Amino acid sequence: MSKPVPNGGRYPGADWDPIKGRSTRVNRPVRMTVHITAVRANDIYGPGKGPSGTYAHLHNSRDGDFRQHQELHHRTYADLDGNGKTVSVENEGREGDSLTADQVDNLARLFAYLVTEYDVPNRIATWKDTRGLAWHRLGVSGNFGRFSTKDRRTWSAAQTGERWTEDRGKTCPTNRVIDQIDDIFNLAQRYITGKGATPAPTPEPAPRKAPTMYVTKYGRNAWRLITGDYIIAIPEADYNAFVKAGVPHETLTNELIKTLEAHLKFGA
Ligand SMILES: [Zn+2]
Repeated sequence: MSKPVPNGGRYPGADWDPIKGRSTRVNRPVRMTVHITAVRANDIYGPGKGPSGTYAHLHNSRDGDFRQHQELHHRTYADLDGNGKTVSVENEGREGDSLTADQVDNLARLFAYLVTEYDVPNRIATWKDTRGLAWHRLGVSGNFGRFSTKDRRTWSAAQTGERWTEDRGKTCPTNRVIDQIDDIFNLAQRYITGKGATPAPTPEPAPRKAPTMYVTKYGRNAWRLITGDYIIAIPEADYNAFVKAGVPHETLTNELIKTLEAHLKFGA
């Protein structure tokens, strides 16, 4: 790759949990592909590979535990011909499940990261162009109902020409999850623009600066100009001019004036 791999290929939003014997072949992602594990399990990989040597880049548990098993710039084996161009994410869930809010959030943050750090196109995949935010069924052969350009559930290998599995009819990532693609994408937009990111902490209010100069009136006929170092007797006209000019003015007690005169240089 011409530009350095961000963070050595490790996604900062997941726990690094490398698979043993993982590939060192290059992955140049043009999409993020959403899968479902079809089982309730904390993870289906690690420390070794899954069945038939498969593994995805990340595993996203229903409780929000997000584990990364392979560097993002190295290929995985979850997408057959898509391997090498895909960041693959397995999501814990069974047919009929929707992704949990934690899972959606993890996917949105990862997709935003891939857009900003790996130049993955910021779009939802279609039956004509599978780059961007994609899901496994786009590369699966099978009968998913009558094809409709308006229904993502019906898009499959028949239209895309992709071959991302040998299992005909595999429903991955299931209809319910395909219906959440918009949620993932829309949330990702907020992370991309920074609007959905954790807001920066409100800055502490700056400590109120003592005025560098102020004037004071005390007693009946005494006016003073006080600066950091000096306390100076001034005539009433000057006092009024300073006040008019916006110089802070305060009424101080005789005692305080005496104290100030004792500690500051007094001039007239
Ligand atoms: Zn899958």
